[in-house]
This record gives sequence, C-alpha cells and structure tokens, in this order.
Amino acid sequence: MLSRPHRFVCVRCNQCCGGQPGYVWLSQKDLEALSNYLHVSKRTFAFEYCRPINIGITLTLSLKEKENHDCIFLGREGCVVYEVRPAQCRTYPFWESVLEDEQRWTEEGNACPGIGQGAIVPSETILNAIVERRQNPPLSIEDVAELKGLETEWGAQ
Ligand code: SF4
Repeated sequence: MLSRPHRFVCVRCNQCCGGQPGYVWLSQKDLEALSNYLHVSKRTFAFEYCRPINIGITLTLSLKEKENHDCIFLGREGCVVYEVRPAQCRTYPFWESVLEDEQRWTEEGNACPGIGQGAIVPSETILNAIVERRQNPPLSIEDVAELKGLETEWGAQ
C-alpha cells in the first residue's frame, strides 16, 4: 500500500465536500469536537446537522447535505468547521480504500485534482491518517447517552 510514492496537495477546490450525494460519518470524537465548537449539546448538534443512517449493525450519524448535495458545513469560503472537521475529511485522500492499489489511487484523481500533484507525501503522514481513521469509526447512537431516543424526534420531523 505504501510501497509507491503518493503525491498530493489540497488545492481547496471543495469537490470532496459536495456536488454529489455522499456520507460524512461521525465518530464519537467528531461529535464531541463539533458540538463543542458550535457551543451546542451533542443532541442538538445531531438533530440540527446530522441525519441517521442505518448501516445494518447499528444506527449512525452522517452530516446533513444541502439540496445540491453540498455538505451542510460548506460555505462560500470553504468548510466553516475546518478546525474540527471530521476524521473522514481530515484524512482524505489517505483512506485505505483509496490506497489499496495504484489504479484506485489514480481513479480517485478524477474526484480530487490534488491527487498526483505537489510533493511526495511522507509515509509517516499517510500512516498517521490511516491510524486516525481507524481510531474514529462511525459512532453508534445507542452508545452515546445524550442521543438516546433521538430516532423518534427525527421520525417526527
Ligand atoms: S477534492 Fe482534493 S484538492 Fe479538492 S478540496 Fe478535496 S482534498 Fe482538496
């Protein structure tokens, strides 16, 4: 996976932040950081900015999208919660699914113009991203006390 050099520089085009349907999964740490940043409770944050998604084994959270499928936090100047953006966003494009082989990495360049540009990214940086993503799996809403029963409120929306 890391035997090949990977060139990447983010050109802040925001293509990975919207324009088509997708999911931005939140880990427990992401939920905590984002709700603290916005000075709201986790429950309020989840209700206002997230949608519940059933991933088979559990119900988890993904950030809401605008009508045009942009992320709810994508503003005119870019991400409005950039300092505390979710691990999924912080670690892109160094996801194991993208790094699995050269073809997959090259194909991802169609979605991200920063791939293949700039300097070679140190292996350590890539490994750190992989570890960070692994340490931040999508949360289960049943594991977060403050979110208990929120499904009912979403259902009533
Ligand atoms: S698509 Fe790539 S270059 Fe554009 S903002 Fe996202 S990470 Fe940066």
